[in-house]
Amino acid sequence: LRRQLVALQRVSSLGVLAGGICHELNNALTPILNYAKLGLRNPDPAFRQRAFEKILEAGQRASAISGGVLGVARPRADRREPTDLIRLTKEVTLLVGKDLSRHRVHLDFQAVGRPHARVNPAQIQQVLLNLMINARQAMPEGGTLRVRVGEDASGRIAELSVADTGVGIAPADLRRIFEPFFTTKTGPDASGQGGTGLGLSVCRDIVESHHGRLRAESRLGQGTSFTLRLPVCPAPASAKQGVA
Ligand code: ADP
Repeated sequence: LRRQLVALQRVSSLGVLAGGICHELNNALTPILNYAKLGLRNPDPAFRQRAFEKILEAGQRASAISGGVLGVARPRADRREPTDLIRLTKEVTLLVGKDLSRHRVHLDFQAVGRPHARVNPAQIQQVLLNLMINARQAMPEGGTLRVRVGEDASGRIAELSVADTGVGIAPADLRRIFEPFFTTKTGPDASGQGGTGLGLSVCRDIVESHHGRLRAESRLGQGTSFTLRLPVCPAPASAKQGVA
């Protein structure tokens, strides 16, 4: 059942972002088509080499959007691997970028250090995606989405936070937001979406299965901040830079 809920929630976030995802995929497809055409016409090996590199780069972007980011290609895989949390978070912001700008939400992204954690990347991206979509929905008049990635003072815990300047959550509701099916999004809102009330319960489930914690703080009328904490792991040797 847990797996089904996770899958259901994934499809629901995809629905919210459908337009943005198409846009990003199109952005990646355009250079693929153009460089393929140019490369076919131009016999110069150096030019073709460059064209292939561009095609590969854009293809990887498209693959990150469709398969990597949301785990659509491998929804059942539960492989945990040392993951660069900054890179993982950036990929999600790429996906929501279009949706944010359409709703006049400014993205403020800040990353400190190079925190890594042993996670299933698609699942943690799903958590971040849900938090960012909720944040955007809480700012119907626009605002700022603040995303932070770093480590706590001990250096043993990675901290990822998603904060908005939106409507906020009343204290009585704040106690219940992680309950399955708890939602205040009753009718279709301005962007045509009602709520399932599953998002945050699935998020917390995923985070706790990674031995992490997910907490919320909010002030009515001022905004809400979610903080995800995960035990860090060493960066894989191949990804280390500047180490003798
Ligand atoms: P849904 O989004 O389908 O309602 P969630 O479990 O994701 O389900 O969220 C539950 C409830 O928590 C929402 O209906 C909303 O009332 C509240 N909520 C979640 N995130 C925010 C946020 N960033 N700002 C204000 N309220 C929020």
